[in-house]
Order: sequence, then structure tokens, then C-alpha cells
Amino acid sequence: MKVFIYKNSGETEHANDASSKYVLRKLRRDGVIMKNEYHFIMPYNIHFRFDNYLVKEMLLMDSMLMDILVYEVKNGIANWKPYKLWPRLVSAVVSRPQYIGGNVNSFLYKVDMDKCIDCGLCIKRCPTKNIYHDEQGVIRFHHNCLMCMRCSFYCPKDAIHIGFLEDWGWKVNGGYDFKKIEKINYDKPFITPQTTGFFKCYVETYDKIRSRHKEIFGE
Ligand code: SF4
Ligand code: SF4
Repeated sequence: MKVFIYKNSGETEHANDASSKYVLRKLRRDGVIMKNEYHFIMPYNIHFRFDNYLVKEMLLMDSMLMDILVYEVKNGIANWKPYKLWPRLVSAVVSRPQYIGGNVNSFLYKVDMDKCIDCGLCIKRCPTKNIYHDEQGVIRFHHNCLMCMRCSFYCPKDAIHIGFLEDWGWKVNGGYDFKKIEKINYDKPFITPQTTGFFKCYVETYDKIRSRHKEIFGE
């Protein structure tokens, strides 16, 4: 069986190039052949909140990347290359502490039941089914957390305390207002070849998406 992977993270290439290596290893045991891999960059949901204009650009870039994905997969154009050594090392060093950190941090999660309106969104949106109601109806957490922050990000009442991440000031509560972002007049790129500082790492990623999109679709 031939497969492709698409994944997302808040980091640009190449920090997460090899983040799917464990999934890939398991898939290979089942005899699959990796053909394509795509990495979608999402706006941060911890650390800090992105400017809405940049979020608009990120969504546009993701939409272009999705066009590329569909085109290449449908036409049997493989894009996967073996991961380089340094992203594999980064992945090996970071993934284990992150996995353990998520489980440990689960012990520190709690819901302020005075704020909670029991809408159930956190339970519904947790990808690992880590959140549940106990017998008294209080929202509790198991210890299988990925630290994805979907629960706190979508909580309409900011009722979820996300353990040490919150104590370190890394909490961004509330989703981005995509309806508002959609209406933004996008007339020039936020990320350009002249971009410096933190956002410089986006330049290469976005250049690659733009040029591949142009190559395929001519626009
Ligand atoms: S999303 Fe927030 S308000 Fe809704 S049930 Fe969960 S903690 Fe309560
Ligand atoms: S951070 Fe993600 S995985 Fe952890 S409890 Fe919240 S939604 Fe579930």
C-alpha cells in the first residue's frame, strides 16, 4: 500500500521534518510505501498569539499547500525524501521529553467548575479522549495528554488550567476569529525575503510553497 502523510505543527521546516518518523516506522512494519509528506504550519496556540494578518497568510499558504498535495497525490508524483540526520536527532531528543511532559502535566490540569458551563467542547475536541466527567459531574483528565491545547484553546470560559505551561505564561486562550480574519484585505505578503528576526524561518517554507504552486498551476 502507498501512503502519504500530512501533519501540522506551529514550527516551520526543518524543525519538525522528522516528527513523523515513529509513525512511519510503524507503517513500514505493515508493509506500506511512503510516497508523500506535507507539513502544514498552523498559528500558535501556546507561547503567544499571532497577528491576524499573518494568520490570514498562513491559511492562504496552507490552502496552496493543500492544492499541491491533492495534485501530487492524484497524479502519483512522489515528494518524500529520507529525513536528514539532524532533524532525526532533534526529533529523538525532543519527542520523548515532550511525551513524558504531556503525561506529567496532565496531573496538573484542572477545570474551574465555577467558570465552567459544561458545554462539553473540551471533551469533544480532545484527540486522545483524555477528558471525562467523573461521577460527580466534575471534568477530569486522564494522563494521556499530547499538550495540543485544543481543550483550553476552545474553552469559551477560559476555565481550564493547563498546568505548568500556564504557570510559565504560555497560555493562549480562545480560538482565532476566522470570520474576522477572512474579511482582512490581504494585499501584500507578511513574510518576504527581507523578513528578519523570529519570522525569518518562514521565508524558505513559504517560498517553496509559492514556487511549487506556480510551477503546477501557473499562479
Ligand atoms: S470547554 Fe470549558 S466550559 Fe466547556 S465543558 Fe470544558 S471546561 Fe467547561
Ligand atoms: S491538551 Fe490536548 S490532549 Fe491534552 S487534554 Fe487538552 S485536548 Fe486533550
